Amino acid sequence: MQAETYPFVVRPLPYEYDELMPVLDEETLHYHHDKHYKTYVDNLNSALADYPELQKMSLKELLTNIEFLPMNVRVAIRNNGGGVYNHELYFDSMKGVAGQDPVGDLAEAIQRDFGSYKQWKEQMKQAAVLRFGSGWAWLVSDAQGTLSIVQTANQDVPDLDVYIPIFLVDVWEHAYYLQYQNRRADYVEGWFELINWRKAARRYEERGKKK
Ligand code: MN
Repeated sequence: MQAETYPFVVRPLPYEYDELMPVLDEETLHYHHDKHYKTYVDNLNSALADYPELQKMSLKELLTNIEFLPMNVRVAIRNNGGGVYNHELYFDSMKGVAGQDPVGDLAEAIQRDFGSYKQWKEQMKQAAVLRFGSGWAWLVSDAQGTLSIVQTANQDVPDLDVYIPIFLVDVWEHAYYLQYQNRRADYVEGWFELINWRKAARRYEERGKKK
């Protein structure tokens, strides 16, 4: 993901549209992936279309240099570039319901930094449910491996020069409204069952190895 440059392309889901049932149904995933996420990709490409020098930059480079971008595309790149980054990680962080538990070094780090899986889950749930308005709740690591939970508004990302995102949950209404209406807490509770802990453990173990 991080080495790609303009033109950005829509990545297919790494599972079938019905594979996340019953937590997320096909209609929700079709809208979320095929329409919402695709729109961010299209709008990011439009924002970059007239800027050959920006077309050489990776998504991470764009998102960590927002304040140096040309004024008239800065907001569009922040919102749509963040939208692309966040959705690609969100979709890639899930798998079919399997009742998986945290694995590897990540499981130990959760114990160490949050006390227990249960305490981590409670804090993550609070971050997601209490995020006011649209945004995201993230599990991130620093380069040393210390974990923390952060929230971002809209399509913002944490400081990607400091934090390595492990996974995140989308709490924009478009992520859950078709199925859950205003019951965000029920959607978040279900989302915990979808976490792909194997991929999460790999992201954690590879932190800092990628540029
Ligand atoms: Mn979304």
